[in-house]
Amino acid sequence: MSQYDYDLLTIGAGSGGVRASRMAAQKGKRVAVCEEDRVGGTCVLRGCVPKKLLVYASEYSSAFEDSQGFGWSAVNSKIDWPQLIDTKNRELTRLNGIYNNILSSNGVETIEGRGTLIDEHTVEVAGKRYTAEKIIIAVGGWPTLPDVPGIEHAITSNEALDLPELPRRIVIVGGGYIAVEFAGIFAGMGSEVTEIIRADRILRGFDDDLRSELEREMTKRGINIMGSTTVQCITKKDNHYEIVLGDGETIETDAIMYATGRKPKINGLGLEQAGVEISDKGAIKVDDNYKTSVDSIYAIGDVTDRVCLTPVALAEGMALVEHLFGADNKAVDYDNIASAVFSQPPLGVVGLTEAQARERYGKIDVYTSGFKAMKHTLSGRDERTFMKLIVEPESDKVIGAHMMGPDAAEIMQGIGIAMKCGATKAQFDATIGIHPSAAEEFVTMREKRPDTE
Ligand code: NDP
Repeated sequence: MSQYDYDLLTIGAGSGGVRASRMAAQKGKRVAVCEEDRVGGTCVLRGCVPKKLLVYASEYSSAFEDSQGFGWSAVNSKIDWPQLIDTKNRELTRLNGIYNNILSSNGVETIEGRGTLIDEHTVEVAGKRYTAEKIIIAVGGWPTLPDVPGIEHAITSNEALDLPELPRRIVIVGGGYIAVEFAGIFAGMGSEVTEIIRADRILRGFDDDLRSELEREMTKRGINIMGSTTVQCITKKDNHYEIVLGDGETIETDAIMYATGRKPKINGLGLEQAGVEISDKGAIKVDDNYKTSVDSIYAIGDVTDRVCLTPVALAEGMALVEHLFGADNKAVDYDNIASAVFSQPPLGVVGLTEAQARERYGKIDVYTSGFKAMKHTLSGRDERTFMKLIVEPESDKVIGAHMMGPDAAEIMQGIGIAMKCGATKAQFDATIGIHPSAAEEFVTMREKRPDTE
């Protein structure tokens, strides 16, 4: 009989924590997971899922407009925001139930409360101590807010998903995934949206062509993107907020949302007393097997601040459980992880940007295609679809694929598989397209862009 209460105790029941706990229990281990909120974590309760439901809702306004080009009479409809938030929340409750069920039906014990490490094998939750042979920290991240006077008036994505009313005007600060996605959501719902970014363009780290293309399309949809702009202070007035910008200009708004990054949620975890080291950025340091500086304590997902995506946390959870309790010791392969930005229009990307590819390989071949999607020949919408392939000429391998346009996320998953298999440009070219589709463009791009570098 083990000297510990559990073989594994996981702190945090989000995507990574639930997956790791369930997999360990399925291997016959005695497992508990503690959670201070509802089971589900950021993705299910405050991120991917509710965000995407709101994206779906907001897309109807442009669908109504587009339908008239196909002979439908004008649709005069307004969003019932409280009803949408209510139905969205009911769906989250349903998912929360499924997650609870996954844990209980696999024999994982759920302990309610925030876990604090007491030592290398002990976690305290709600005043009670539990011991475990292995501990996994999977507590995720939390939005960060800069130190700006009046920042207490700002909301984050957490609150934006549950606003009691749809703001007539909203200012969103930040140019990353979350800012861009919420700008599209609120604009689609009918709010007046201003996005303030300190850089010259949105989405730092993405392919430069894609950044410019998306910025152009967002602007066409009425989003006012203010580049190279900072916020000096925020003041609450009677019925609105006033934002003073770096250059002294003021903007009035009904809501202000900050999406200026997320940080590992390590406060109060007791890392120091257990001897778990953190990086300069406040992330838990782990080795290739997710082990922290303490032999019995591991960490996965956003709290390690490596690739902050749900499917990565799931993969890390599974790899770790195999490493700890299984026969397999395969590491997660972080190359060519396809991802999407659910902006409007959406982006799908996999592999290297043009700039990264040039830096790594020097000479590269670039293929691009920009066109008006067939649907918009009749809808009349002035919107372009853009695609780009980056090829390493010596091996002919496709090393980067980027798309902006309808269904980009759905399309990019398949391209990601091809790239994982090491597909060459010749193999892309030998693939017969699906006609008529936008995706077929990925197998019909023949003209290299003249090299201007
Ligand atoms: P990001 O790190 O992607 O973007 C943060 C943005 O805020 C950047 O534009 C940054 O500007 C700006 N910024 C940072 N600090 C300040 C400041 N003090 N003042 C003004 N602007 C500032 O963070 P997000 O919050 O958008 O997203 C967090 C993570 O969540 C992402 O990294 C992603 O992994 C994940 N995510 C993934 C999604 C998906 O897969 N679809 C969707 C949503 C989130 P600058 O560029 O100048 O640094």
